[in-house]
Amino acid sequence: MSGSVNISAGRSYLAIPGPSVVPDQVLQAMHRASPNIYAGDLVEMTATLIPDLQRIARTRHQVAIYISNGHGAWEAALQNTLQPGDLVLVPSSGRFAIGWSEMAEGLGIEAEVLDFGNHAPWDLDRIAERIAADRDHRIKAVLGVHVDTSSSIRNDVAALRGILDAAGHPALLMADCIASLGCERFEMDAWGVDVMVSACQKGLMVPPGLGFVFFNDRAAAARKALPRISRYWDWVPRANPAEFYQYFGGTAPTHHLYGLRAALDMIHAEGIENVWNRHARLARTIWAACEAWSSAGPLRMNVPDRTLRSNAVTALHIGSPLGTELRMWLEQHLGLTLGIGLGMAAPNSPDWHGFFRLGHMGHVNGHMAMGLLGGIDTGFKALGIPHGPGALDAAATALAAR
Ligand SMILES: *Cc1c(COP(=O)(O)O)cnc(C)c1O
Repeated sequence: MSGSVNISAGRSYLAIPGPSVVPDQVLQAMHRASPNIYAGDLVEMTATLIPDLQRIARTRHQVAIYISNGHGAWEAALQNTLQPGDLVLVPSSGRFAIGWSEMAEGLGIEAEVLDFGNHAPWDLDRIAERIAADRDHRIKAVLGVHVDTSSSIRNDVAALRGILDAAGHPALLMADCIASLGCERFEMDAWGVDVMVSACQKGLMVPPGLGFVFFNDRAAAARKALPRISRYWDWVPRANPAEFYQYFGGTAPTHHLYGLRAALDMIHAEGIENVWNRHARLARTIWAACEAWSSAGPLRMNVPDRTLRSNAVTALHIGSPLGTELRMWLEQHLGLTLGIGLGMAAPNSPDWHGFFRLGHMGHVNGHMAMGLLGGIDTGFKALGIPHGPGALDAAATALAAR
């Protein structure tokens, strides 16, 4: 790859774990004049979003839409169910669980983190012990991140419900599906989840700006029992609006709603089960290459066990400064942007430049996965980074296999 020929022109590819690639259909749906927000098409169209969001979350319960990112949805879920002094239990497999616990602490809620590190899923036995020990039911909610995007661990949310039920413990079960909704199997009602938070810019393929909080009757009852509630985050008027503006606590996110409508149409046309299966097959393709590269040289997958890996994001370690050098080279020369490592080393610490992540969530298909892998393979060769052989061959074989 020497010489001065610039090969970065062409369509660029942002392969980071959110925001994800926005489909042309979504962009086109957003490219329009500002609509009337008091009556007409926007008002009617917004009502159609609710049942389709419920379908994707596999729930018959309510959903509130916020003009926010995932952090806003985190805060909304806490504001509607808990009050200062309450205790929540946060089993952690990465930075996002810690982030949600910090959000709770900022609201005066006591957050007890069970930290299982950055390489392992929840230890269900230890969680069960802690729940069983809470005989006077001080723990008001368990906050579980389904896919922790920093580590790329996928956790077993249904097992948390099993633990609470086995102990007869009334704590609410809350799940963060910001990285998993529209990528991985998630069954809100069948898994007994009381509150689920998500956002639009990952599996839902819309530019950042919409947060979602799904809540069932138990969670609604917790909301009713609170002495007061933030007017802005209150989910009651948003889920049951008497006036259109109540959906959004003010002006509607007009263009995002059209984008979301187009994205939901795409997901339903493909079928949610197929969407999950597509993510699984593309993940196997990406893992096949990563495992081959890792057979020699410095690259390591953050999660060695395939069964514990998310299908939406892959976290990798290559050592400092190679992670950053690889990302910079791919962006400058190939128009390919990989994700930074998150939560694996402190910013500015010696190993901070040693990590990177691949986003494979949302609007991604086989040629994009192969292009991503081919780009990384090229980067290794251009930078002289040692790596195991046969990665692209292994990836093509995995992609071809049904
Ligand atoms: C992206 C992400 C968040 C944060 O979402 P923002 O939109 O960046 O606020 C929280 N949790 C998980 C699992 C995520 O992937």
